[in-house]
Amino acid sequence: MAEIISHWIDGKRQDGVSGATGPVFDPATGQERARVAFASAEEVDMAVLAAKNAFASWRDTSLTKRAQIMFNYRSLLNEAKNELAEIIASEHGKTKPDARGEVQRGLETVEFACGIPQLLKGDNSTQVSTGIDLTSVREPLGVVGCITPFNFPAMVPLWMIPIAIACGNTVVLKPSEKDPSTANRLAELFAKAGLPNGVLNVIHGDRIAVERLIEHPDVVALSFVGSTPVAKAIYEGGSRHGKRVQALGGAKNHMLVLPDADMDLAADGAVSAAFGSAGERCMAISVVVTVGDAAERLLPKIVERMAKLKVGSAEDPDAEMGPLITSEHRDKVVALIDSGVEQGAELVCDGRGLEVPDCENGYFVGPTLFDRVTPDMKIYTEEIFGPVLSVVRADNYHDAVNLVNENPYANGTAIFTNDGGAARRFQREIQVGMVGINVPIPVPLGFYSFGGWKSSRFGAHSIYGPEGVNFYTRAKVVTTRWPEPEHRGVDLGFPRSR
Ligand code: NAD
Repeated sequence: MAEIISHWIDGKRQDGVSGATGPVFDPATGQERARVAFASAEEVDMAVLAAKNAFASWRDTSLTKRAQIMFNYRSLLNEAKNELAEIIASEHGKTKPDARGEVQRGLETVEFACGIPQLLKGDNSTQVSTGIDLTSVREPLGVVGCITPFNFPAMVPLWMIPIAIACGNTVVLKPSEKDPSTANRLAELFAKAGLPNGVLNVIHGDRIAVERLIEHPDVVALSFVGSTPVAKAIYEGGSRHGKRVQALGGAKNHMLVLPDADMDLAADGAVSAAFGSAGERCMAISVVVTVGDAAERLLPKIVERMAKLKVGSAEDPDAEMGPLITSEHRDKVVALIDSGVEQGAELVCDGRGLEVPDCENGYFVGPTLFDRVTPDMKIYTEEIFGPVLSVVRADNYHDAVNLVNENPYANGTAIFTNDGGAARRFQREIQVGMVGINVPIPVPLGFYSFGGWKSSRFGAHSIYGPEGVNFYTRAKVVTTRWPEPEHRGVDLGFPRSR
């Protein structure tokens, strides 16, 4: 009998009532390693009810107590880093150092949430009018639904949950069904840290569970991270149901390389950012735009580095890059490489047909490089989400910037140059949410916020950091007067300052 990965509702594991399940694979071997419960609408309702019941007392739990739980959680998470990395690697396929790295980035948000008493300080003005004071406070929203993607099974839930609950909300998390075990472990550790039952619930499943969260009247806000079509649908559906929504979508991140750049630094950056985690990162670099003659000097350095990359399973300590998440996704990436060849791009390194010893049935595609890609090709227009790097050659800086600004995605971008003036100009002219200057993956630290523009994000709020606090709270402004012996009597005029 395969292991069944169950839901986590009201502080305990809950087997699925409906009995529906889906497969969870080891992507390095293609073996089914477990099955995960798929929630029906009724099971989602059970989780939302647990979260709703917990909200009444959790919102009144003191800030010092909430902060204490976050501090406990921080130390438990830190201790569990290796254990979590093992779980992530076994279901996602990324290398263990990479998996530890994502837990570390998730920890940053927990550390930020430890400062919640400071973060929730309101404003106060005395004597705004004679005898009148004004106070503004931020209050929690209620039950928040969090829906997360497969590619960061620890980090992305940790972008949301610590801040949502530190602000006094309760949460129903629906992680990716492709690598679901990490979410349950994160929830168990929260329980160990002292989080009351029902404050954090995890339900597993597919769109049936998500659609119920979108329409459920007791879910007041939705945080989503995933692909653009689903982000858009969740933003529209959630808004239609009167919810507050932040929905982060897909990406096509460009890296500009100017002729004066340090070409070794640029080649290191391009290869690391394109092939880390097999390109399954929303901040992966998928297009290098060379300006002028930069390509002539950059490409040989990229090719040289790619030739040395070691692809293998997470059990191989020398492996730098693992498999893709599913056989369907591997087939999609291979079909896109085929299309690049058919549409006339120059295939410089071909990752198709890669055989990894002892992993013949794994979902591997090797590092792939295309040169002379043009914006009409499918490999340029689609988010490949695999280890495929495209090089587009631009004649000049203007053409390169226009290319980036015309792309519908706008998550991250980078420029490599030694010219401070050009870098500053790029920073101001580029229409993208996160910008790196000689930094290929500009993911802000936990005390800033993360979010792209255009089709990479729907909703006004970025995720985590100060914007996370704003998203998970709403402002209340209180105007106070304590009666003095002398009353002013009836006045039907509009209230004004005296
Ligand atoms: P996905 O959109 O397929 O799935 C994300 C979540 O939505 C999962 O929990 C999934 O079960 C659910 N879902 C899938 N289809 C649905 C549907 N039709 N209706 C309702 N729910 C649905 O994304 P993925 O494949 O898990 O993750 C990869 C994508 O996520 C890439 O596009 C990547 O760029 C993006 N991503 C973006 C960011 C960011 O911060 N912008 C971060 C990580 C990943």
